[in-house]
Amino acid sequence: MTDKKRVYLFREGNAAMRDLLGGKGANLCEMTNIGLPVPPGFVITTEACNEYTKLGRLPDGLWEDVLAALADLERDMGKKFGDPSNPLLVSVRSGAKFSMPGMMDTVLNLGLNDETLHALIKLTGNERFGYDAYRRFVMMFSDIVLSGDYPRLKKEHFEKIFTALKQKLGAKVDTGVDAEGLKTLLGQFKAYFKEVAGRDFPTDPMEQLRLAIIAVFKSWNNERAITYRNKERIPHDLGTAVSIQTMVFGNMGDDSGTGVAFTRDPATGDNKLFGEFLKNAQGEDVVAGVRTPESIEELEREFPAIHGRFAEIADKLEKHYREVQDIEFTIENGRLFILQCRAGKRTGVAAVKIAVDMVNEGLLTKEEALIRVPPEALEQLLNPRIKSTGGLKPIAKGLNAGPGGASGHVALDSKTAIKMAEAGQKVILVREETNPDDLGGMLASVGVLTQRGGRTSHAALVARQYGIPTICACSALRIDEHARQVKAGGVVVKEGDVITIDGTLGEVYNAALETEPATVTGDFGTFMAWADEYRRLGVRANADTAEQAEEAVKLGAEGIGLARTEHMFLGSERVPLVRDMILAEDEPTREAALAKLLPLQRADFVGILKAMGGRPVTIRLIDPPLHEFLPPLDELLVEVTELRCRNGDPAALKEKEALLKKVQEMHEVNPMLGLRGCRLSIYFPGIVNMQVAAMIGAACELKKAGIDAHLEIMIPLIGAVSELTYLKAQLDEVARKTMAEEGVEVDYAFGTMIEIPRAALTADEIAKEAAFFSFGTNDLTQMGYGISRDDARFLPVYIEKGIFKADPTETIDVKGIGRMMKICVDDAKAVNPNIKLGICGEHGGEPESVKFCHKIGLTYVSCSPRRLPVARLAAAQAAIEEKGTAVQRDK
Ligand code: ADP
Ligand code: MG
Ligand code: MG
Repeated sequence: MTDKKRVYLFREGNAAMRDLLGGKGANLCEMTNIGLPVPPGFVITTEACNEYTKLGRLPDGLWEDVLAALADLERDMGKKFGDPSNPLLVSVRSGAKFSMPGMMDTVLNLGLNDETLHALIKLTGNERFGYDAYRRFVMMFSDIVLSGDYPRLKKEHFEKIFTALKQKLGAKVDTGVDAEGLKTLLGQFKAYFKEVAGRDFPTDPMEQLRLAIIAVFKSWNNERAITYRNKERIPHDLGTAVSIQTMVFGNMGDDSGTGVAFTRDPATGDNKLFGEFLKNAQGEDVVAGVRTPESIEELEREFPAIHGRFAEIADKLEKHYREVQDIEFTIENGRLFILQCRAGKRTGVAAVKIAVDMVNEGLLTKEEALIRVPPEALEQLLNPRIKSTGGLKPIAKGLNAGPGGASGHVALDSKTAIKMAEAGQKVILVREETNPDDLGGMLASVGVLTQRGGRTSHAALVARQYGIPTICACSALRIDEHARQVKAGGVVVKEGDVITIDGTLGEVYNAALETEPATVTGDFGTFMAWADEYRRLGVRANADTAEQAEEAVKLGAEGIGLARTEHMFLGSERVPLVRDMILAEDEPTREAALAKLLPLQRADFVGILKAMGGRPVTIRLIDPPLHEFLPPLDELLVEVTELRCRNGDPAALKEKEALLKKVQEMHEVNPMLGLRGCRLSIYFPGIVNMQVAAMIGAACELKKAGIDAHLEIMIPLIGAVSELTYLKAQLDEVARKTMAEEGVEVDYAFGTMIEIPRAALTADEIAKEAAFFSFGTNDLTQMGYGISRDDARFLPVYIEKGIFKADPTETIDVKGIGRMMKICVDDAKAVNPNIKLGICGEHGGEPESVKFCHKIGLTYVSCSPRRLPVARLAAAQAAIEEKGTAVQRDK
């Protein structure tokens, strides 16, 4: 116990110690050791945090270690913590292994009380600064350390007091309030504190420090941190480190300030310093978007020497980490300090451009560049854009913080946004500014619009990370939360009204504008070509129409892995034919209806096969239970009852009654396990005979036109090999008959979807009869787990209670379902070495699942067209990771 080191001075740690010191702490150590101007400090380990969580109190010996480190700091700075003549002030900062910006808590200016305040004023000769630091401290400390017990000590209550005072003094911004004003404010803050907490504000610096450390430990488990970790799949047991760091002050006057900068533009990827700063301010002011900051170019104009020094440091850091850096800095009376660096979060567009640029600059190898871009980010490159404004003028303009166009209903707070989204509406969240509590609302929205806050504000950061079209600093907006409306450019927009935002240009339109898919840019093309060089897994698309197939080819599909035919039974001209077919009392009537459907279906297949050129196309025979094509039972019951009661039209009643009878006949208690897939084909052979005639006919037609189609006919829901052999024989005959009629031979093969556990486990038999297998992991997971997703009301409870870590249907469950897949793959290859093995469920476009598919040796993955770049990159990463030659990027 005693030999465990729980506290590290900045000079004792390094960047590799993220697990123990958190990302922020480890990087502060690293920067100290490469000679950057970092205010001295020390880090308490994540292990100590976990001990605290377990014990509910600070572990024995920790406090003594903190005091020893503090003494070192005091020697270093020549100041003493709590000293009435030369006080040391510190910040207490949270920081976990993975960056969770703004999710946990940080207290600044700690160590202030009336005595140290006066010393600070005397030493700096700056009374306004002293009071400014103290009022910030009282507010932050109350908010972070005590508002858990006293909700009325939350920041917003103090902000209200400040706003009221500003109004009274006629000050527009914080900096417009003078020393006298801030002194008054401090008095008000203290009085308010006493009124709420029933005690004076804590003045003992040691007590302040102890409580702040505990508060940071506790913040690991605050609600927004948990939400964030769930969303990012960050484990909940890592804990946070705590960095205690000497304060430097950006609020000492006009030659002081604080800022955030990226070594490259995080929205576009442009290789130039990009950032913002605020004069006479402390860190949180920039990040929280309290005032709209100035751009880094402004810093260059006003303080060229500091800007030059900063640019040098930024360059050094980027080369050192070989990664874009997001750097926090503060200028105290003309002196530059670096307070944080981390890998910069960026849009998908920027991620790709930066990866390509860094390879061209010789900073990264192709493999490293490929490994560093999160596959999901590529989907953002296909964010829709506004098709045309039709000459419409924007009602407001702001900063283009997140590219892409979005049209939706205005919601003025996150709760409303979530509610509207749950009701199926597309939402644009409009806020004065967003804060970490808005994450849920932002994720539920298709676009975000804020009145304040710059490119480094919370809203902009979330936009970059999640690819949400976003506009910030749209200062023309006037949001009225009480009247539930927004004014801009002389227009009143009510909550619920539809607006459109262009996050690429930063423009807001008072109309619903149409959007279209983005085109693939040059860098994107280069990057995807690199991915294709490395990947060994094939990629196909799930596509049901010729348009989807065309899009898929553009996005790199090497074939279609799943064309569902049931979608082709929809549409106003087809539904009546499908109904006639289902309701037919005898075979001849059914045949007649099917004969009418055949040419329509054949035309569908011609379209798809043509779009795919000679690429292989897997077409699945009809799969869902037939009642899905009929009206729901309860609706029919109501209609029939109404008609009977009203003595309605007898012909209509008779028709509805017949329909009702049929629907009742076909009603199933558990349709998921009922008459569907190949069972349907065996029960009603006419439908699949028609489908096979249509697809073979289509292939013949194309062959005559010079296109050599490769058809793979998928027979779904096989549980026993005998189902497959039976249907194959039947359908082979149809195929041969069709080819004879057409007078040409075409290439076709039969295979199956592996979606019933028994099929997976009897692959040694089934693979002898199949040219291909394609895993339908949606059904395989549900049947393997015995969970129907439609009825899984208990799942959220399972996750909340920690029984399941995540929704088991989200990625392939490697332990159970994945193991079954592996057995299936190995057995299939043993009896049929040429068998093609694919996956066509939703997991085919999910990066972790794609990597698993690579590992067990599938031939291809298949996913929706827009996920294709994601799957291609994930497949490349799997191949690169297997070689182990590239260094992984920190999250
Ligand atoms: P977060 O994880 O939310 O970014 P930080 O720990 O980085 O929180 O702190 C928030 C802000 O406070 C940062 O912008 C930083 O610049 C400022 N800050 C933190 N420590 C100090 C310090 N020792 N001196 C001056 N400013 C500080
Ligand atoms: Mg913070
Ligand atoms: Mg920070």
